[in-house]
Amino acid sequence: MSTTYLAETLFNGNEILNNVSMTVENGIITAIETGNKATDGVKLTGLVSPGFVDVQVNGGGGVLFNQDPSLQALQTMVQGHAIYGTTAMLPTLITDELPVIERAADAMAEAISQGTAGIIGIHFEGPHLSEPKRGIHSSSFIRPISDKELAQYCRQDLGKVIVTVAPENVPADIIAELVKQGVHVCLGHSNATADVVEKALQAGATGFTHLYNAMSPLTSREPGMVGVALNDNNSYCGLIVDHHHVHATSCQLAIKAKGWQRIMLVTDAMAHVGSDITSLPYLDTEIIREGDKLALPNGTLAGSALDMATAVRNTHRDLGLPLIDSLNMASATPATFLGLEQQLGKLAVGYSADFVVLDKSQQVQSTWISGNKVFDAHQ
Ligand SMILES: [Zn+2]
Repeated sequence: MSTTYLAETLFNGNEILNNVSMTVENGIITAIETGNKATDGVKLTGLVSPGFVDVQVNGGGGVLFNQDPSLQALQTMVQGHAIYGTTAMLPTLITDELPVIERAADAMAEAISQGTAGIIGIHFEGPHLSEPKRGIHSSSFIRPISDKELAQYCRQDLGKVIVTVAPENVPADIIAELVKQGVHVCLGHSNATADVVEKALQAGATGFTHLYNAMSPLTSREPGMVGVALNDNNSYCGLIVDHHHVHATSCQLAIKAKGWQRIMLVTDAMAHVGSDITSLPYLDTEIIREGDKLALPNGTLAGSALDMATAVRNTHRDLGLPLIDSLNMASATPATFLGLEQQLGKLAVGYSADFVVLDKSQQVQSTWISGNKVFDAHQ
């Protein structure tokens, strides 16, 4: 059975089209035509854009993946972020003990085998990080990589897998082994010198986790992780454009250096997004929401309260990027990073019918995964 959607305007990933009819069968786009020939179908008022792909999201809808590594929590996170146009995510498990890693991987395997809408894989952020750059990751769990952890990361039933490591603590041959097993290795929470970072890239690492935050900075004589990340043409960087984690000028510099094709908008969101909770118990402290910022009681930033639609608006309005580039940084770029450039991040024949409908101020009106509506602002 096929459904036709009639869009006033549609961004297909390359250009904005008017009066578009898009036909979807079994969740996949089978035709896209302009010229408004069809009159029967689901009318979409506003700008239809490829749905957002978030490769770093710790929680949402009131749950934090680390605190509840279950299938139900994953579904809740999808609902929490659907409000803001996210149609595919890699729930992110931060540094934790091995049993939590195993439970999270099992929950992910269950979600993938069931085809849970919106879940495409898992991001393990730590625990093989640098102590001086650990941020809010717990010192007591930071450790070298072991065979047991390696076995979890290399499972073939988890969908797409990202592992963020500090390359000064994970040898290049282990990075190469992870990459060989299909893992996307990102570098971050690291104090590595430029040399060590270059070697990790040569070993197959392809990304940097939340560029600028928790990594060795760029200075005159020591380019650090930031310098290598900005200078390297092939790798991808996640960027938190919430105006708290990274200054607008630094964001603009990164996009100039690497192009929108290599910068991925990420939320790094905690449980607060898509929920009305203001305080979340966390280890022996709490994460408090103050306006659009999350912090520990001592003021340390603790993840973000950012959502993908706000990240797109901030990029377009405050950084001054064209809307279509801003949308691509939230969809096509992360899809390409994950090797899903033939399935996600565009609206074209053969792609998944994952889309978001935005009004003139880029507020989300509705969100659709595989042609099914998962959020409606007016219901
Ligand atoms: Zn982090």
